[in-house]
Amino acid sequence: MNIALVAHDRKKDDLIQFALAYKPILAKHQLYATGTTGSRLVEGTGLSVHRFQSGPLGGDQQIGAMIAQNEMDMIIFFRDPLTAQPHEPDVTALIRLCDVYQIPLATNMGTAEVLLKGLENGLVDWRLLSDRRK
Ligand code: PGA
Repeated sequence: MNIALVAHDRKKDDLIQFALAYKPILAKHQLYATGTTGSRLVEGTGLSVHRFQSGPLGGDQQIGAMIAQNEMDMIIFFRDPLTAQPHEPDVTALIRLCDVYQIPLATNMGTAEVLLKGLENGLVDWRLLSDRRK
């Protein structure tokens, strides 16, 4: 599975903690991240991560492009709901594309745990999801 990980600045520490806790699961998949999130993940967890541009410089849109090409399977995006983001339109566009293409999207740690546990334990019928994307 191709999984994208993104965190706004005040959520990056949370994402590192989360990725450390779920490293055995995440390590089985191809990981992608926006630039700064990706650097922090590599430093903080040792996971192998493909890095896109930083979010405000187009990284969210690059992840969106992968969704539009049916190349992304899951998004874990720890948003900061209390801070205005200069690239809010990009964030909204990425979330919209997840809904267009039925891509599982977690915007907080609680949902992210459910998604990864569901992935690990085979609780989601991924074939059904991929059929819907055709
Ligand atoms: P960053 O981008 O990982 O480069 O900080 C994340 C974002 O704000 O979308």
